[in-house]
Amino acid sequence: PGSFSPERESGNRLPPPGQPVLRIRGVNHYFGSGDTRTQVLFDNNLEVMPGELVIMSGPSGSGKTTILTLIGGLRTLQEGEIEVWDADRGGYRTLQGVPEPELVQVRRLIGFIFQRHNLFDSLTAVQNIRMAQQLKERATDPGADARDVLTYLLLGEKDLAGKDQKSRFDYKPAQLSGGQRQRVAIARALINRPKLVLADEPTAALDANSGLAVVTLVQELARARPEADLMKLVRSAEEAGENGRLAEWQVPLLKRVVAEHGTTS
Ligand code: ADP
Repeated sequence: PGSFSPERESGNRLPPPGQPVLRIRGVNHYFGSGDTRTQVLFDNNLEVMPGELVIMSGPSGSGKTTILTLIGGLRTLQEGEIEVWDADRGGYRTLQGVPEPELVQVRRLIGFIFQRHNLFDSLTAVQNIRMAQQLKERATDPGADARDVLTYLLLGEKDLAGKDQKSRFDYKPAQLSGGQRQRVAIARALINRPKLVLADEPTAALDANSGLAVVTLVQELARARPEADLMKLVRSAEEAGENGRLAEWQVPLLKRVVAEHGTTS
């Protein structure tokens, strides 16, 4: 079995140079109707380039989950434009006025990592990942091996510290630590090699150490992408901060990255 890379060998086109994998323009969103109608998103604009890690933040209730579910096609877009790069077709898919059946195709372009891992308790790590593989439409890519992805996320024969360990391939969620479960969830999000991974507070349910391990993995993931480098990653996090959208849990992370690698300015 070959080792896993988040990049597919073939049929895996990136957007044209300088073009984003995700483009959001003028997105507004409302909940309720009549007197109880409330606007929760106000003219949201964002572009995410290949290899970029963008941190969206703000107080609880500020609309982070709402925008993620809109991007992911889990909720119908009301106003504005969202375009997601479709690597198989070599073009953008727009989420505007898209009927529900077509939204399913949009969901397949994206890897999701949720706050709670949402793994199936009765299935092993490998089986959980294979479930996600089977949901993918007629694959132009035969797909990665679940074991390779788990190895990539250090749940194979080597642990985070590089020491030999018993692989966790056949463990069920209840037999794994919180951090390991979340890494299985990340492996599941990566199995179809999406160009866009959405993570909704992936470390919220973890203790500080497991949280840091998961964050490090997410960083490395972004870095493994073409055109990505750590400085760019730091910059994008700082830009998110300037827009007043840096979440509490990312602040220590950002400080850590800046402290280890120096500031970009
Ligand atoms: P965050 O993820 O930043 O904590 P959310 O996107 O979950 O924020 O929520 C944004 C706002 O929208 C909140 O005020 C929340 O109460 C409201 N909201 C979220 N989902 C619904 C819904 N299904 N119906 C009505 N209001 C909702």
